[in-house]
Amino acid sequence: MFDQYCYYWDYNEFYKMIKQIGYFVEIVKGSLITARHFWVNLSLHILNLFHIKTKRKGAVTIQYPEVRQPLAYRHRSMHRLMKHTDGKPRCVACMLCATACPSECIYVEAAEDPDLEIQKYPSKFIIDLTRCCFCGFCVEACPEDAIRMDTDEIELARYDKEELVFDLDKLLG
Ligand code: SF4
Ligand code: SF4
Repeated sequence: MFDQYCYYWDYNEFYKMIKQIGYFVEIVKGSLITARHFWVNLSLHILNLFHIKTKRKGAVTIQYPEVRQPLAYRHRSMHRLMKHTDGKPRCVACMLCATACPSECIYVEAAEDPDLEIQKYPSKFIIDLTRCCFCGFCVEACPEDAIRMDTDEIELARYDKEELVFDLDKLLG
């Protein structure tokens, strides 16, 4: 008889309900943000259409990869090693780039060059791009301007990690 009037509070159900309300609130918040961006951008585009100057222009969608934005002048893309006019690498295997690299992704092995002007050249030069953070320290550290990051190559996704380990031949292009 007493059980009939006794109220059992189910905590699990209660937490589930709170969670569901939380999800719903987040969905509404997200939708409101999207709607705000949509209307603000649409308004900016309409104003610009009528040559009314606004502080900022409306956002546009770039149809990447069919359409590409030009890269900034000081961008850092994939590395390359520079060559002398005779085709020899400009690198003198001083290891400064490898020392400066915070990710320890450069490996240089030096060999002696019979040319006294050059003295040393890299018999091995490997950059493991899977570890590279594109900080550009290697370029800054190089006293010979032998390494640059101006290839415009920024699409570095590969199916195989090994393909992102670049050796001397690949870096010299
Ligand atoms: S860009 Fe930075 S992390 Fe990448 S190889 Fe150069 S120094 Fe190392
Ligand atoms: S790339 Fe430049 S810093 Fe690196 S080993 Fe060659 S000469 Fe030295």
